[in-house]
Amino acid sequence: MIKSINPYTKEHVFQNKQLTKAEAVEAIEVAYERFLSWRKTTFAERASLMRAAADELKTNKEDYATTITLEMGKPIKQAVAEVEKCAWVCEYYAQNAQTQLAPKTITTDATESYVSYEPLGVVLAVMPWNYPFWQVFRFAAPALMAGNVALLKHASNVMESAMNIQRVFERAGFPKSCFTNLPLRSDKIEGIIKNPRVKAVTLTGSKPAGSAVAATAGSEIKKSVLELGGSNALVVFEDCNMDETIKTAVQARFQNTGQSCIAGKRLLLHKDIAEEFTQKFVAKVKELQSGDPMDENTFIGVMAREDLAEELEEQLKSSVRQGAKILTGGTRKKAYFEPTVVTNVTTKMALFKEETFGPVIGITTFKNEDEAIHLANYTDFGLGVSVFTEDKERARKLVPLFDDGAVFINELVKSDPRLPFGGTKISGYGRELSEDGIKEFVNKKTVYFN
Ligand code: NAP
Repeated sequence: MIKSINPYTKEHVFQNKQLTKAEAVEAIEVAYERFLSWRKTTFAERASLMRAAADELKTNKEDYATTITLEMGKPIKQAVAEVEKCAWVCEYYAQNAQTQLAPKTITTDATESYVSYEPLGVVLAVMPWNYPFWQVFRFAAPALMAGNVALLKHASNVMESAMNIQRVFERAGFPKSCFTNLPLRSDKIEGIIKNPRVKAVTLTGSKPAGSAVAATAGSEIKKSVLELGGSNALVVFEDCNMDETIKTAVQARFQNTGQSCIAGKRLLLHKDIAEEFTQKFVAKVKELQSGDPMDENTFIGVMAREDLAEELEEQLKSSVRQGAKILTGGTRKKAYFEPTVVTNVTTKMALFKEETFGPVIGITTFKNEDEAIHLANYTDFGLGVSVFTEDKERARKLVPLFDDGAVFINELVKSDPRLPFGGTKISGYGRELSEDGIKEFVNKKTVYFN
């Protein structure tokens, strides 16, 4: 049995039976059989089912959101918003997949030559708990629209949400086994990737998990996409709109109780505004409402597991030992971590060097643009960066100097179905969402008529 424990109440809320090896192999075989018919469906047929999935999500968003909140402690309002966003990505690909995958004519000495974008087959997704619905839908919507079938190995603490996602597709009318949830622990993943029916794998999660999955995929010469951790900088210049920047920075760090790969984890402030900014920022953080994740008014819930909160506490403590100073917060009670702001953070500290996956933000100051770029890039991660300045030309000039997969100006880094999403360095490779995302799991087939 794989159990889900509510991190707020500590109650055992759900349990799902783990598949046996034979059951998992059988499920993959059935998925492959389904692929043989699914690949022949038209875009219009797929789009109609994908729109039905969007409707199902919107109709039952409260139910799905409640399970998310019970399993991993996300405040209910944010869980509902997550389910709504999943409906958006379904509608987006229902609307756009056919155009995005339209054959591309290329003039050569052939009478006709073109690239045809065709499905790969059975694709496995290994997914994390922090956005239990969104991470899966942003993979599944384009994969299914492209004519692939999907297997899901979800994080062990959100297995009921995983079952619910399969229900969404079934209730929408997708043929059985277009989308298959595999309730399995991670030690079974190697065997699944090695199964000859599985043609590709995508993983969203930590570096160790990503590197294990990519190593297996590499050994089998199978395509992989990795969406891993991040340590985004929020780079605040002296000419920013301070009040707006503070509002955005608080959201960037503390939404989802700080458990987001693209959260702004390192706050880099120009020295001329550092004092005033810090004072106002701390005041805003103190206003954040902590409480029962099921309460509509709660903004900060609990972290998804107590061990994750303990890990964050250790990162904070070690940084404090090296000279960092806590301005607000800093205490942990079981899985609850107080929203915390820390200053005097240097590049040697865990709060700067490592990914911090919870409601803690470290402040570092800089003197000029060169130092700001140096600090922002001084990390192994490369998901995204936010730059705050009222001078658009300055921002435009700085954009190419950042190593990251995304640069957002006067905005937090966020995913949007219309824009590619993905990282550089140890944040992974490949892209999700937009046309780039749907083209990750297709065979770009060259066709030549003599
Ligand atoms: P995780 O521990 O890496 O788990 C992610 C998934 O991988 C889970 O399904 C997990 O299964 C599985 N897994 C773990 N070790 C594995 C292994 N050796 N082989 C195969 N599968 C393995 O990550 P998490 O704690 O759930 O999520 C937090 C991390 O995800 C953070 O680093 C965050 O930044 C990153 N993330 C990245 C993005 C992005 O788009 N770049 C988005 C969200 C989160 P079990 O649960 O059964 O261990």
